[in-house]
Amino acid sequence: MNTYRNFIGGEWVASASPRTLQNVNPADTRDILGEIPLSTADEARQAVRAAHLAFRGWKETPAPVRGGILLKAAALLRSEQEDLARLLTREEGKTVKEASGEISRAANIIEYLGAEGRRPGGHTIPSELPRNFCYTVREPLGVVALVTPWNFPIAIPVWKIAPALVSGNTVVFKPATLTPETAGRVVALFERAGVPPGVLNMVLGSGGTLGEAILGDDHVRGVSFTGSNEVGAAIYAQGARKMMRVQCEMGGKNPVVVLDDADLDLAVEACAQGAFGSTGQRCTATSRIVVEEPIADEFVRRLKARAEKLKVGSGLETGVDVGPAVDQAQLDTDLKYVGVGEAEGAAKVLGGERLEEGPLRHGFFVSPTIFDHVRPTMRIAQEEIFGPVVSVLRVKSFEEALEVANGVRYGLSSSLFSTDPNRIFRFVDQIETGIVHINSGTPGGEAQLPFGGTKATGVGPREQGTTALEFFTEVKTVYIDYTGAGRKSSIY
Ligand code: NDP
Repeated sequence: MNTYRNFIGGEWVASASPRTLQNVNPADTRDILGEIPLSTADEARQAVRAAHLAFRGWKETPAPVRGGILLKAAALLRSEQEDLARLLTREEGKTVKEASGEISRAANIIEYLGAEGRRPGGHTIPSELPRNFCYTVREPLGVVALVTPWNFPIAIPVWKIAPALVSGNTVVFKPATLTPETAGRVVALFERAGVPPGVLNMVLGSGGTLGEAILGDDHVRGVSFTGSNEVGAAIYAQGARKMMRVQCEMGGKNPVVVLDDADLDLAVEACAQGAFGSTGQRCTATSRIVVEEPIADEFVRRLKARAEKLKVGSGLETGVDVGPAVDQAQLDTDLKYVGVGEAEGAAKVLGGERLEEGPLRHGFFVSPTIFDHVRPTMRIAQEEIFGPVVSVLRVKSFEEALEVANGVRYGLSSSLFSTDPNRIFRFVDQIETGIVHINSGTPGGEAQLPFGGTKATGVGPREQGTTALEFFTEVKTVYIDYTGAGRKSSIY
């Protein structure tokens, strides 16, 4: 059995820990991909040390050279797309088509950020004084910790590693325990592209043990985290105690608002894709559909008909639309929330069962689930489920739709289906989410645009696109007096 290795100081090293977990295909638990070591706190500290030792050399490497290495990594990623997509599916469960889409997005992100190495990083600013040259430069933070979830095991690591590296930081990467093999493949791409030893390090194992050791090390100057609110809040508190820079992207409860003038077919398709694509395991998944009452019956009828056509199964098979939950715990959560919705009095119109027929019995499959007549205060309308479960909330007006859409603690993505420009612009003004889609679903995004959420979803600068480097750089302000003599006047 293949036991995954850590990557420290440019070497693939076996963990000294005897403790391991199995890496299991969620569509077929008989298929074991490998053993995940539960690395020790000491190994995490070795990774931080390697990153610390490599920092000066990497910072002094010209940014266009750093960017060039990233571009090489992007090319390698594209050349291995097909093979990697199948691995991602085997490890995480989404369909091969979805996995391939994730890899395209990851490659786009690396290419965008590789090119950042050639773009200016500061401003020239006029001085009040003659012969005084003032400007800013952007500098790396130093060693940064990157902690990532399992649901986009290639794209999320990449959208943190690429901006960290192009800015001149060195990295300790702690991937999700559920997806160690894709994480290792991502790191290997950067290694083969020419990232020097120590610049990018990876430690596998339990978030609690490794997080504590990495964030507790004084050489670590920042942490970029994506995952659950519970863990994010703990990391934010830990970072605050050390005055460390923290960026957290966390949960979502993303609404689609469908108004009475919407193109219903368009809205239904977007909601089906948004709610059930990637088995609902996307931070931007559609989990609430807020529909104006006059069209609600017809909308629910069409959504149910569309969802019934979705084929659930192993993502490796062609024709499958919805893969499994990632593990037993997530499957249990999905089924628990189905029970919660029923107990709260919502009307279940479709799904909500564990699927165990034939080969499905070896995996964590749940049928796409629709609840109608959900009230805004119900738990299924408030709490992130992270599975293929969607709630329909009926409203009487546009104003009520906005109130319901905004009435959750999260603020990641939202979407409106309407053909009325006045209501579209009012929605964009008033919706409290970091990302807004008009006449398209809540998931999705492009590499050159910022990504992230408001309220309990996110803290720190937006990731990706034009804002990607903000978190990973400090601004240094420079004054150069070239009078060659003392001044009578001075700046205060
Ligand atoms: P978790 O918060 O459970 O885990 C995320 C990462 O944190 C994992 O690597 C985990 O390690 C690690 N971790 C766990 N405990 C600690 C700790 N005490 N200190 C440091 N690190 C720790 O999230 P999931 O992996 O379950 O991912 C699902 C969540 O991610 C959902 O809430 C989803 O909304 C969110 N997400 C948000 C996105 C966004 O951009 N807003 C995008 C994608 C997902 P280990 O695996 O070993 O437990």
